[in-house]
Amino acid sequence: MFNISYFAPAKLSEALEYLYEHKEAKVLAGGTDLIAKWKKIGHPDMELLDIRNIENFAEISEGKDGLFIGAGAKMAAVQYNSAVNEKFPILAWAASVVGSVQVRNLATIGGNICNAAPSADTVTPLIVYGAEAVIVSKKGERRCLVKDFFTGPGKTVLQSGELLKGFVLPYPEKGSKAAFSKHGRRIGMDLATVGVAVNACVDGGKIKDVKVALGAVGPTPIYVTGLEKFAGAMANEAAAEEIAALAEKQAKPITDVRGTEEYRKDMVYENVRKCLKKAFA
Ligand SMILES: Cc1cc2nc3c(=O)[nH]c(=O)nc-3n(C[C@H](O)[C@H](O)[C@H](O)COP(=O)(O)OP(=O)(O)OC[C@H]3O[C@@H](n4cnc5c(N)ncnc54)[C@H](O)[C@@H]3O)c2cc1C
Repeated sequence: MFNISYFAPAKLSEALEYLYEHKEAKVLAGGTDLIAKWKKIGHPDMELLDIRNIENFAEISEGKDGLFIGAGAKMAAVQYNSAVNEKFPILAWAASVVGSVQVRNLATIGGNICNAAPSADTVTPLIVYGAEAVIVSKKGERRCLVKDFFTGPGKTVLQSGELLKGFVLPYPEKGSKAAFSKHGRRIGMDLATVGVAVNACVDGGKIKDVKVALGAVGPTPIYVTGLEKFAGAMANEAAAEEIAALAEKQAKPITDVRGTEEYRKDMVYENVRKCLKKAFA
């Protein structure tokens, strides 16, 4: 037998009050990660805060500064939302390759990030789009770039009493083009062996800005650093190869059932190169 205390408020303020008073409470969104883990560790007693009824928690809305995506938005909603598809197409694409139809109808984008798996599909697009995570607690609201959200495998910057409310994605600059790759043994119902997202802004054939993020090749998702030096360089095959080599160097993969360290490094190079070629085209 196990004991679960369960609270499913309709108001954000009630949820934050509950989290403040129940420091050990677990947040339940779609439950696709949380419940699987709970079963794996032998059904311990737990206090559960169900956030699915909170008003506006799944909203996706266009604002002046960017698109807001609520943490409770399901993968299927992100996949089919017209604003996401029009302005942030690789995020819609990434949501569309999470698990299966059944998983995407339960799993939320907030849960994908808070679970902090290095292979989480929607993380790399959020990073290269410069998304900010909006974090709330009884004390107020703060923001953190998604690239800085992860502190270790399964660990994030979220403190006790804090809830992820959603993301703000600044609208892409004119001339920006993004590309995404989920490299694996198969697309559906498997985690990525290597995940890549790139976002490049090209003006007159020259790189204005380029961002690259990697998944499944380190203890946390990786934001490739040192790309500022490519500003002003020609957006061509040579630049794509140089950036891909830099990404490969920063990848820190392990060997597991999905691939060896060496294979994953090779695939980082190849997928970054291919994605950049698309983004530069
Ligand atoms: C069969 C199967 C296939 C899968 N395939 C993929 C895949 O291909 N790609 C992929 O990326 N993932 C995959 N997953 C993992 C999972 O579906 C995703 O990570 C999903 O997005 C998690 O969202 P959720 O709403 O179910 O989170 P939950 O399980 O409810 O929560 C996950 C964690 O985040 C915390 N949390 C959730 N929301 C918040 C919030 N708003 N604030 C603070 N903490 C919060 C929870 O407390 C928990 O620790 C798969 C899972 C299954 C079961």
